[in-house]
Amino acid sequence: MEVRLYKLKFLTPKGFRIGGGNQDTLEPLTMGGKYVIPASSLKGVLRRTSEIVCGHSPNHEEVDPKKVYEENSKNEEITAIARAKGVLSVERQKEFAELYTQYKCQIERLYGGDFFAGAISIADVTLDGEVLERAHSSMDRKKGKVLEKHLYTEKYLNVKQFEVKVVVRGNEAQECWNKTLKFLNEVGTFLGGGKSRGIGLLALDLEESLVGEVNGLTSPPTWYKLKPYLEGKKELK
Ligand SMILES: [Zn+2]
Repeated sequence: MEVRLYKLKFLTPKGFRIGGGNQDTLEPLTMGGKYVIPASSLKGVLRRTSEIVCGHSPNHEEVDPKKVYEENSKNEEITAIARAKGVLSVERQKEFAELYTQYKCQIERLYGGDFFAGAISIADVTLDGEVLERAHSSMDRKKGKVLEKHLYTEKYLNVKQFEVKVVVRGNEAQECWNKTLKFLNEVGTFLGGGKSRGIGLLALDLEESLVGEVNGLTSPPTWYKLKPYLEGKKELK
């Protein structure tokens, strides 16, 4: 199976805020004394982006369970998983059809579905950084005046870039993954809270990102520049 490692460099020109807190102060999330972007947050951002760029296909709502079961209950690739999950029977053809649909869909193949794990693994990002504070007041929209009581402080990280390590196994969802990376470079997205104020604006720096091809378990990966790689050209790092 093909395995690719990615070192993705993201730019966050306005900083970002991940975390919650009580009603008065929104605190950045920390772990072991460092600020952290949990892998689950990053995965959510990537998945939403892939859904915009690639969409769910085939259409999950329009699947006919009976037809899918009849046509695919002999398909060895699917039946191996279906058998393991106990849904390889006429009685459970609805679940079999869900498994089949998710298995054929690049979104679930990349990020995981109800019956199988996804192709992608993402590491938590820990970082140091300066915390900036902004005070906000809530408006009473009916009366149009500021409610002093609802003043709150938002703390966000003044971090302008960070690196994310990602592993993608197999080639089944590679097309969607490549499109997702290009979209994150050309359009970008948002990470965390404070979106209405521009906080969390996120863009992938393709020029500074790398992809590593793994050639067996014993040799180190071969690293290539990501931008030409996405255009089908391999340039060593
Ligand atoms: Zn899907």
